[in-house]
Amino acid sequence: METSLQRIMRKTGRKPIECKCQKCKQQCKTPCLGTPEDILRLIKAGYKERLAITHWWVGIARGKLDFPVIMIQARQEENGYCTFFRDGLCELHDLGLKPTEGRLSHHSITKENFKFGKSLSWNVAKEWMDMRNGEIVEEIIRHMTS
Ligand code: SF4
Repeated sequence: METSLQRIMRKTGRKPIECKCQKCKQQCKTPCLGTPEDILRLIKAGYKERLAITHWWVGIARGKLDFPVIMIQARQEENGYCTFFRDGLCELHDLGLKPTEGRLSHHSITKENFKFGKSLSWNVAKEWMDMRNGEIVEEIIRHMTS
């Protein structure tokens, strides 16, 4: 069966990419979005305390949704960066735990070529509403509320 990552790659046409340029590092101010599979992996790896409930408002801002998508994602720290951004690098990278948006994102994705339906953030957010991920989301909620 197709995984969330495979589905998102198919829908967005994006492939995993590594880039450490300044523009890509700037993207780590807003925590990249993970699918339910990504987030459950982080919880199981012991990172529960660095995750938080997140309301994704982009769909409303773009006039595509009339509700925010509710997810669990990496926290944004008081320094304005993602909780996993350390010394200019992603702490999760070498652990193979980087969330899907971060794995597939690249600084070449700009406002000019942003298409909502093919955007990484929307395709990851959508996974939180996909019934195929229902059991995983329930397991995440159990962990986060215990
Ligand atoms: S998880 Fe890693 S790649 Fe994603 S925003 Fe945080 S530091 Fe950047």
